[in-house]
Amino acid sequence: MDQAQELMGIARELGRDRFLPRASAFDRAGEFPTANYEDLADAGFLGLTIPKRYGGLGADFATYAAVSAELGSWCGATALTFNMHTSSMLWSGSLADDLPMQDAERAQHERNRSQIYAGVIEQGHIFAQPFSEPNSAAAAGKAPFGTVAERVDGGFLVSGRKHFASLSGHANYYGVLCTLATEGEANVTDTVYLAVPGDADGFSISGEWDVLGMRATVSRNLAFDKVFVPDTAELLPFGYYYQAARDWPHMFITLCPTYMGIARAAFGFTCNYLRGEEPGGPPRGSSADSPFKQVAVAQMRIKLEQAEALFRRAISEARYQPSQDDRLRAYATQYTVMEYANDLAREAIRICGGRSIFKAMRLERLYRDSRCGSLMLPWTPDICIERLGKESLRPDRGNRP
Ligand SMILES: Cc1cc2nc3c(=O)[nH]c(=O)nc-3n(C[C@H](O)[C@H](O)[C@H](O)COP(=O)(O)OP(=O)(O)OC[C@H]3O[C@@H](n4cnc5c(N)ncnc54)[C@H](O)[C@@H]3O)c2cc1C
Repeated sequence: MDQAQELMGIARELGRDRFLPRASAFDRAGEFPTANYEDLADAGFLGLTIPKRYGGLGADFATYAAVSAELGSWCGATALTFNMHTSSMLWSGSLADDLPMQDAERAQHERNRSQIYAGVIEQGHIFAQPFSEPNSAAAAGKAPFGTVAERVDGGFLVSGRKHFASLSGHANYYGVLCTLATEGEANVTDTVYLAVPGDADGFSISGEWDVLGMRATVSRNLAFDKVFVPDTAELLPFGYYYQAARDWPHMFITLCPTYMGIARAAFGFTCNYLRGEEPGGPPRGSSADSPFKQVAVAQMRIKLEQAEALFRRAISEARYQPSQDDRLRAYATQYTVMEYANDLAREAIRICGGRSIFKAMRLERLYRDSRCGSLMLPWTPDICIERLGKESLRPDRGNRP
C-alpha cells in the first residue's frame, strides 16, 4: 500500500467512526469540532503536508486533496476548517519551495517555517486562514488588502479587519494577508503574509456565527488594532504571496475537495436510502424498483462522475506555472464541484422524499453545507465564469491569480 492509500484509509476510519457520529451535534450547536481536531492531531494529520524533514507526513498536493475529500464526505465543517490549516502549511511549504527566492530570503524563510512547523508538530498548533475582508475585492484578487502591516523594529504592527474567519477562537495562529504600509498607493504586490497569535494584544474576535450551513466552522469576525507580529512569523517572505497566488493558481481549488466529498456523500446516501440500508431510514420499498427513481439516480451518478473526472484531472495538473488551459480547467473544476455538490444534495432530497429531511439523518446537513460552497472567494461561480469567458476569448492574457 502506498502512502496516499494509507492516509486515505486513516481519513476514512476517522471520518466514519468518529467524525460522522459527532457531526450532527457540532452542527446543531454551531460548535467547533475540537474532538475531531484532537483525533487529527493524534493521527499526525496537522502535519499532513509538512515536509518529512520537519517531522510532518510529507503528503503532496494530490494526496492532500484525496484525504480532504474523504474527510468532507463525513463532516464538511471539519474538512473545510482542516483545509484552512493545511493550506497555511502548503503556502509556506511546497509552494514556497517552487518560488525563485534570493538565498537570504530562502534562508530566512527556512528559519521561520522550521519554528512554525515545530509548533504544529510538537504542540499541536492549528492555523486559520482569514483572507476575506468586508466590503473589499481583496479576497477576489482584485484589490490590495485593507488590513495593513506597518514595519517596526523586529516586525510589524497589524491593523484591520477580516470576516468569515473559520476556526475563530479555536486556532492558535491566524494566517493574515495584509498590505505593507508605504508612502505610495497600496498595491496588490505589496502583500505580507503573517501568522498572528490568537492571544496577541490588540487582537479580538466578534460577531455571531448562526448560519445556514457549515455551522461548525465558526467563521466569525477578526479585528487587529496595532497587533505586534515579529518578523519570524512571516509565512512567506514579503511579496511572495502575490507570486504564489499568481503562479500556483490551483491553491484556490483546495476548497473543492470538501465539496467533492459532500457530493459523494449525497449520492451514497441516496443509494443507501432507496436500498433500505440507511441507518434511521425506512426499509427498502417499491420506490427502489421504480424506473423514475432509477433514472434519477442514474442522472445523479452521471453528474457525480463528471465532477469526479474534472476534479481528478485538475488536481493532477496542479503545479507551479501551469499552462493557461490547465488554469482555465481549474476554474471549470471549481465551478462544477461547488455547483454540482448542492445540485446533488437537492436532487437527493427530491428522490428520497419527506422522510429524508429529518435532522436525525445526514442528508439535510449535506444540503445546507453544500449550499455554502459557491459563496467562497476568490473563485466563486461568478468569478470563474467571468474568467473562463474572458480568457477563453483572449488566450494571450497570461497568468493571473
Ligand atoms: C462557510 C464559510 C466559511 C468561510 N471561511 C473563510 C475563511 O476561513 N477565510 C476566508 O478568508 N474566507 C472565508 N469565507 C469567506 C468567503 O470566502 C467570502 O469572503 C464570503 O463568503 C464573502 O461573502 P460576501 O457576501 O461578503 O461576498 P461579496 O464579496 O459581497 O460578494 C458577493 C458575490 O459577488 C461576487 N463578487 C465579489 N467580488 C467580486 C469581484 N471583484 N468581481 C466579480 N464578482 C465579485 C462573487 O460572486 C460573490 O459571490 C467563508 C465563507 C463561508 C460561506
